[in-house]
Amino acid sequence: MSGGATGTAATGTGGTGFDTAAIDALVGDGPAAWDAAGRIPVELLRELGAMGVLCAEVPARFGGPGRTGQENGELTAHVGALCSSLRSVMTVQGIAAAVVRRFGDREQRRRYLGQLTSGRLACVGFSEPGAGSDLSGMTTRIRPAEDGSGDLIVSGEKMWITGAAYADLVMVVGRYGDGPDGAAAMVPTDAPGVRIEPVAAPLGCRAATHCRIVLDDVRIPADAVLGGGRQPLALLFTVGLSYGRMSVAWGCVGILRACLTAAVGDARTREQGGGPIGEHQLVARHIAELYTSERIATQVCRHAAEQWDRTAPDAAVTAVLAKQVAATHATRGAATAVQVLASRGFTDGHVVARAYRDAKAMELIEGSTEISQLILARHALDRL
Ligand SMILES: Cc1cc2nc3c(=O)[nH]c(=O)nc-3n(C[C@H](O)[C@H](O)[C@H](O)COP(=O)(O)OP(=O)(O)OC[C@H]3O[C@@H](n4cnc5c(N)ncnc54)[C@H](O)[C@@H]3O)c2cc1C
Repeated sequence: MSGGATGTAATGTGGTGFDTAAIDALVGDGPAAWDAAGRIPVELLRELGAMGVLCAEVPARFGGPGRTGQENGELTAHVGALCSSLRSVMTVQGIAAAVVRRFGDREQRRRYLGQLTSGRLACVGFSEPGAGSDLSGMTTRIRPAEDGSGDLIVSGEKMWITGAAYADLVMVVGRYGDGPDGAAAMVPTDAPGVRIEPVAAPLGCRAATHCRIVLDDVRIPADAVLGGGRQPLALLFTVGLSYGRMSVAWGCVGILRACLTAAVGDARTREQGGGPIGEHQLVARHIAELYTSERIATQVCRHAAEQWDRTAPDAAVTAVLAKQVAATHATRGAATAVQVLASRGFTDGHVVARAYRDAKAMELIEGSTEISQLILARHALDRL
């Protein structure tokens, strides 16, 4: 299904570096039921985590599969075509791994990347009730304990944290001490003072779980703060969000491939007015638009992954571009697919119905459409 018109995931690894048939077998026909229940079996997430699927770019020396950004992208599209909730869990695990790789010291990289590739699950807390698009407004604090123990105290509130209901660890990004700098702390979700409350009935990606996390003076050892903290907040955001944007963009490619496959299948077989609906020119136009969207999103993601793998100077802005293009096409493409399938796609759990709800989230997260446009405009104004 996920290969769509491109055939990328038909058999073998499909450019992912993984046995995609094994992933398909594990996922099976679960996504519709997971969507209805608002839960993915946590054992499955741990199994995929231990296979390295959830953070495939972690190098082999830390126990990961060591895939390239390009391979991880195709893998993300494959998973995204099956289930955006599962892909969302994959995205946050990958963000956590990317931030650990960038800011963790040697021992922290060994410890946390080893955990993240052996079945432990992580979520990432950037957003707060008063800090969404503007993360510089965050008030969560990570400060040295006053008792001289060397421990740190984490206090604050995080909102809409994907995968928190499954996570063993939450990577909390906050302000370090009383200064302007930031820090990322790896906080066990069962630590005293951590409270996790799922958001009731989200519009989409329902089985990913999105949670409010209250951190009430949570005590952690100093070695749980990546690199000792005191990094520029903006740098912490950029590293985490760049990975997240690449991942979400490829997830949108998956949404488009799933929608294209469903729409083409229906347009070939459903007969109205004396022939298959795909023979009607207005339906054929829908198919053409969906195909165009899938091709555009794929190409912009491949370009971004190429920049990512080369650590090109423009990699961060190219990730914004990929997310922006892929998310807007996915939103439109999912609506088009529902239009083609009409009543056949209009039931909760159907692949195009899920896509229709899930795709909208992609225009909000990792920088909304408006924020992405501001970044792209600033880039053009400064550089061109
Ligand atoms: C499904 C889902 C999953 C999420 N997962 C996570 C997660 O795992 N971890 C995490 O930390 N957060 C997560 N979030 C939070 C997400 O990052 C925020 O929702 C997002 O940053 C937008 O913030 P907001 O919802 O507060 O909207 P606001 O920032 O209040 O924005 C509201 C509207 O105003 C626009 N706007 C805001 N500022 C500007 C501006 N300067 N110029 C122009 N327009 C502007 C926005 O584009 C938007 O349309 C998730 C959210 C959702 C919906």
